[in-house]
Amino acid sequence: MDLGLTGRKAIVCAASKGLGRACAEALAAEGVDLVINARGADALEATAETIAAAHGVSVTPVACDVTTEAGRNAVLAACPDPDILVNNAGGPPPGDFRDWERDDWIKAVDANMLTPILLIKAVVDGMMDRRFGRIVNITSAAVKAPIPILGLSNGARAGLTGFVAGLARETVRRNVTINGLLPGPFDTDRLRSTAAARAEKEGRPVEEVLREMGETNPAGRVGSPDEFGRTCAYLCSVHAGFVTGQNLLMDGGAYPGTL
Ligand code: NAP
Repeated sequence: MDLGLTGRKAIVCAASKGLGRACAEALAAEGVDLVINARGADALEATAETIAAAHGVSVTPVACDVTTEAGRNAVLAACPDPDILVNNAGGPPPGDFRDWERDDWIKAVDANMLTPILLIKAVVDGMMDRRFGRIVNITSAAVKAPIPILGLSNGARAGLTGFVAGLARETVRRNVTINGLLPGPFDTDRLRSTAAARAEKEGRPVEEVLREMGETNPAGRVGSPDEFGRTCAYLCSVHAGFVTGQNLLMDGGAYPGTL
């Protein structure tokens, strides 16, 4: 299917690795020019070169922390009028809420709620004026079914999801959609480091923990970033203009609800 995105421009945040990178790759494969971001310049530049060479699109790396105002400004300066915005950042650390101080909450809310909202604010009116815009927020399956040790993530991402639910109904009349893409377990560095921590704690090989993560999922495996990226590209496509304010769970069926 032609997604109708050739020549469009996208900002993809937190995209040197993992799910953000997969979204960038899938959009590049559709002929979208990219501004990609991450903090580590070396990995980011290598990713930009690889994607540009593979797909013949322009890929501009902007190395910065997107959760800071300076970082967001740098990304927006490289692409002030994107057609597509993919919001993403690292997730907050796990823990017990009794140990978290106000600052811990502020950091989580800054990274996983306010950063996407501020980027949306910066680009959404231009998208509405141009009568095309696609915004995808990478959140987490924890939005649908909270994970007890990830309270900071559960809270901050639920805040973003609630805000977007309202805004997404105001922008769609001008062909600007805003949706959440909710990853369950995907095979990225983040998942592998979670598995490594568990393996160390339980004195087991990492590969065994990773295999178990897959086996306990209804799909019998964890997700591949490529699957995630292609779903993101579909949500950004011309065909998805009637899909807004939705939260698409990609978890291999792990969430047990009927709806
Ligand atoms: P990952 O493989 O660790 O990749 C994270 C990417 O984000 C890297 O490119 C990293 O580069 C960049 N990044 C992190 N913090 C950043 C910041 N402040 N500013 C700019 N770039 C930043 O992680 P992932 O698995 O793709 O996860 C992406 C998001 O999905 C996270 O929020 C995670 O919590 C969520 N999630 C993932 C899973 C999963 O199974 N993978 C499940 C549920 C939710 P630098 O470190 O160089 O900045």
